[in-house]
Amino acid sequence: MLLCLAPAVLAEGLPDLGEVAQADFSPAMEKRVGESIMRDIRLHEPAYVEDPEINGYLNRLGTRLVAQSTEARHDFEFFVLRDATLNAFAMPGGYIGVHTGLIMAAQSESELASVLAHEISHVTQHHLARQLGAQSQAQLPMLLSLAVAILASRSRGDLAQGALMAGQAAGIQSQLNYSRDFEREADRLGFQLLERAGFDIRGMASFFERLQKYGRLYENNAPGYLRTHPLTTERIADMENRIQERPYRQVPDSLDFLLVRAKLKAGEGTPRDAVTDFDSQLREHKYSSELATRYGLAIALSRAGDFATAQQQLAELRRLKVNSAMIEALAARLLKSQNDLNGALKILRPALARYPQERGLAYALVETLLADGQPQEALRVTLDDLQAYPADARMHGLQAMTYSALGKRLQQHRAQAEVYVLQGQMLEAIDQLQLAQKASDGDFYEHSQVDARLREIKLRQAEEAKDKKR
Ligand SMILES: [Zn+2]
Repeated sequence: MLLCLAPAVLAEGLPDLGEVAQADFSPAMEKRVGESIMRDIRLHEPAYVEDPEINGYLNRLGTRLVAQSTEARHDFEFFVLRDATLNAFAMPGGYIGVHTGLIMAAQSESELASVLAHEISHVTQHHLARQLGAQSQAQLPMLLSLAVAILASRSRGDLAQGALMAGQAAGIQSQLNYSRDFEREADRLGFQLLERAGFDIRGMASFFERLQKYGRLYENNAPGYLRTHPLTTERIADMENRIQERPYRQVPDSLDFLLVRAKLKAGEGTPRDAVTDFDSQLREHKYSSELATRYGLAIALSRAGDFATAQQQLAELRRLKVNSAMIEALAARLLKSQNDLNGALKILRPALARYPQERGLAYALVETLLADGQPQEALRVTLDDLQAYPADARMHGLQAMTYSALGKRLQQHRAQAEVYVLQGQMLEAIDQLQLAQKASDGDFYEHSQVDARLREIKLRQAEEAKDKKR
């Protein structure tokens, strides 16, 4: 950690801060700050996109890039905010947010990947903490939180606009434009990730150039991305130089990229407008992928309540014979919307067996089984699934519902406690475990499990409370 920081700090022409100052931005602290803001976003940010298909896709794309980094010390999490502005931002600890506007503005998957690669590099190089690095250790966590709130600057005004914070917020805002050297470093390392992961490296220059054009269009109201990542002609020239040294490589977009964009677009505006949009694209053959356009049309039609026509579009999709978990999930959703639970289950069971990593299919199968009055099978699915994904809060929540349907009070509260643990709400978790203790069902073994878990969580809660006081 120190080894990778020191040369870069010196290269900035900054004084050597020495070991004590460098400990200020310890990765553990960055992780803690990032994690707590991420929790807050998940629970309270209305623009947070909960969609497991979109999240799953973005995380696969991001992880593919992170895997190429020699400096990534921990897992990254990528998430989406529904916001038409072109923005992406990196929070300390490896949490990277992307606005839907940016995903829609990318004209190829490589373009989207290039922004992620740039952001990943800001994280691996600890740029945010280093940008704020001259602050005292006591203040740094708070400043980092505030900085992220400003970066994400949306309804997160609760943090950014507090009277006490106002003066500081303005001060930080002015520090948030990453320095030129940090931008260059993120470009250079991002470019390496992009290339090693097998994307089209021209994506970077083309996308950043387009961002700059938007910037001119917006005049003073530059898109968020350009405010925090100032783009210079020098940076674009650097990117173009790098590209010229490399052979031309055509990289096709993945099917998931196309489907995710179609899904986002189909969810915008009124259902009728969305239907009209996709419909005219199909009629006028104005699309890059017939498949994605029909997929988007089917979603828009189903939003508009026109299931029969949506079903026709799905039949057309099936005719194109592609394998996609997203298409299976759509087929099941359409049947479920028409109350054909049995039909939906016939699709979901084999689909999950085929794509066991698809969170959306797993949730849909449990939900549909519960709706169909089959909690026993639902329980088996949740038990299997949580073996593989023990940190999935939503699945623990579905398991709690399943136990409730089975009339098993102790297990219901125990499962609900895990939801709260994963959301960082320890007091609520303790509450649930105490309810589980009081439940009249459950055998000796289950009760002692609950007791042990309660002791563990209480200990953790006490430690966290101590941490906060520090
Ligand atoms: Zn940047």
